[in-house]
Amino acid sequence: MVTVNEAKERIIANTVTLPAVTVPLAESVRGFLAEDVVSPIALPPFRQSSMDGYAIVHSDVTEAGTSLRLAGESKAGQADLPVVSAGMAVRIFTGAPVPEGATAVVMQENTSVADGSVQIHEFPVAEGKNVRRAGQQIAQGAVALRAGTLISPGAVGFLRGMNVNEVAVHAKPRIGLLVTGDELLKAGDVLVPGKIYESNSAMLQAALEQAGIGEVSISYASDDLDATVVALGALLEAYDVVLASGGISVGDYDFVGKALEALGAETIFYKVRQKPGKPLLFGKKGEKLIFALPGNPASSLVCFYEYVLPALKKIMGSREPFLRSVKLPLRHAYRFDGERDEFLKARVEGGEVVSLDGQESFVIGSFAVANAIIYLPVTQNRVEAGELVEVHLLPL
Ligand code: AMP
Ligand code: MG
Repeated sequence: MVTVNEAKERIIANTVTLPAVTVPLAESVRGFLAEDVVSPIALPPFRQSSMDGYAIVHSDVTEAGTSLRLAGESKAGQADLPVVSAGMAVRIFTGAPVPEGATAVVMQENTSVADGSVQIHEFPVAEGKNVRRAGQQIAQGAVALRAGTLISPGAVGFLRGMNVNEVAVHAKPRIGLLVTGDELLKAGDVLVPGKIYESNSAMLQAALEQAGIGEVSISYASDDLDATVVALGALLEAYDVVLASGGISVGDYDFVGKALEALGAETIFYKVRQKPGKPLLFGKKGEKLIFALPGNPASSLVCFYEYVLPALKKIMGSREPFLRSVKLPLRHAYRFDGERDEFLKARVEGGEVVSLDGQESFVIGSFAVANAIIYLPVTQNRVEAGELVEVHLLPL
């Protein structure tokens, strides 16, 4: 039995980031950059107006009501531009190039037009007003995004805007999941006495999908040692990370641990001083990582978020692999006994956190509406209302 922190340390210490692969931008989403991206161009590439209005020489405006001669226009996308000289104004639109000679743009709401001239009702006009400088967002040759950055929708927009259409991200691990349990029915099966619908594989698949891992191979084994050895052996041949669901506890029909032993896998830890999820096993066979997750759905998902996801994120090149952790006041008092740290399904609401009804490890309905996990070490087993607790935010 190891502590929560020891378990996390051992997982991170035994996890290696995969090499870089170059992929089209659209395929890089939710990957982590393997290299700094340098901007090939300045953004914006030219001086741009940030308003619809008039491009002028700012020092021409000597009082509110100054009148300037209107000559020509600059619209978005236009290349052939008038040059602005003293006493002159050019009609301009948002995103359009600011003509040479112009030093500011006055928004049209602060102007009026009559007889081929424009009156400026703003004074003074600051130099550079409403003008986006070339390279104001990023200079050509500057580092746009650092290695380790998550490719978010914002990052996609930024990179595409620089005409960066391929990026080097770390490869994603190939994942094989073994589901064990003779009581389990597949989706759509008729419910018969003694059986339940198998839900962990769909749940874990959804969590993996959210982490940017869309492909998972799922196989099934009955509660039998030989069947478990064969199925786990096959997954260990083919995948970088092997997950097992169920069969890791101390019951007579729990064969995952014995099968891993028979396959010559190394156990890095078995059992964590926590509730739920005590029977978690982490092991290795060669370079392959193995996580045997308890079958109870809530235990399974807590272990996924707290241990498996950080390992996968480190494999994919994240520099911050753990769930984001914040300290928040607990809305209500909470006490527990026993020797194990607790993870509570929770909701962060209005600057505080509340633990949800249904903390038993077979109850997944509380997880269905949770947006966070409260982590309470055994040293904090008497929490008063309003006391700060450690909260791990679930991925959105
Ligand atoms: P186990 O870890 O195999 O002892 O299973 C613990 C509990 O989780 C039992 O109540 C199982 O029926 C349940 N369980 C195991 N695997 C699954 C699964 N894939 N989906 C839903 N419940 C499961
Ligand atoms: Mg079982």
